[in-house]
Amino acid sequence: LLVGPDAQDIDNRFDVSTATDRLEYIKFKGSHSIKDINFRENIRTFAGIRAESDRGDFIVEESSVKGFFDIAGIKSPGLSAAPAITLAAIDLLKTSGANLSLKDNFITPRKHTLFMHLSAEEKAKKIAEDDRFGRMICRCEMITEGEIVEAIHRPVKATTMDAVKRRCRPGSGRCQGGFCGPRVQEIIARELNKDIKDVILDKANSYILTEELKK
Ligand SMILES: Cc1cc2nc3c(=O)[nH]c(=O)nc-3n(C[C@H](O)[C@H](O)[C@H](O)COP(=O)(O)OP(=O)(O)OC[C@H]3O[C@@H](n4cnc5c(N)ncnc54)[C@H](O)[C@@H]3O)c2cc1C
Repeated sequence: LLVGPDAQDIDNRFDVSTATDRLEYIKFKGSHSIKDINFRENIRTFAGIRAESDRGDFIVEESSVKGFFDIAGIKSPGLSAAPAITLAAIDLLKTSGANLSLKDNFITPRKHTLFMHLSAEEKAKKIAEDDRFGRMICRCEMITEGEIVEAIHRPVKATTMDAVKRRCRPGSGRCQGGFCGPRVQEIIARELNKDIKDVILDKANSYILTEELKK
């Protein structure tokens, strides 16, 4: 369960901390829309940075450097606006004289298996083809080993724990990776032929395992 967010102006562009008073405020405001929200179901809180331009609006324009485009200050609702921003950007490219042609190697849409959404027959067929789809790794979100292996070997490989989580969701559920985390780490190490200690969370040096406590 996620309730929120609020919005605050802050000076530190790296500050993604959450604060009790803001959570209380969100709780108070949320209860105006929905009665009896069960906040005990809330398992994690986040904060993110919205890019605020000094013009109070999105900037979508060719910069003073010909052929260099600014698509900037994309604050809320930048996600909902993304398709429209894309069309505006294409128009900008056209009017700026760019020579646009369709790539023949462009693949759309991305194909990946969402095992839990398959019918019983499709599941059985998938498992018969590859028994890794029969091994449930993330029990909360019902993500199979097959989906994790697929995510690791996509053209842009998922090589960290968070990369795998973003592509196919293991660790996004109730236990937040308490059960599946070590298993996902083992699968990444095996698939990429790495030492398990070199499988990191996300950024450089975000090590999860450093040494063995006992043999
Ligand atoms: C709390 C919150 C709630 C929001 N709610 C909504 C909503 O309900 N609806 C809505 O439409 N929008 C919402 N937004 C806004 C929306 O998330 C943004 O407008 C949108 O994500 C902007 O997209 P973007 O691609 O411009 O930037 P981003 O999504 O920020 O993508 C930029 C990417 O660049 C990467 N990056 C940064 N620096 C580097 C570097 N040096 N090298 C390589 N990669 C780099 C970042 O890791 C990031 O993945 C919300 C934002 C926040 C923070």
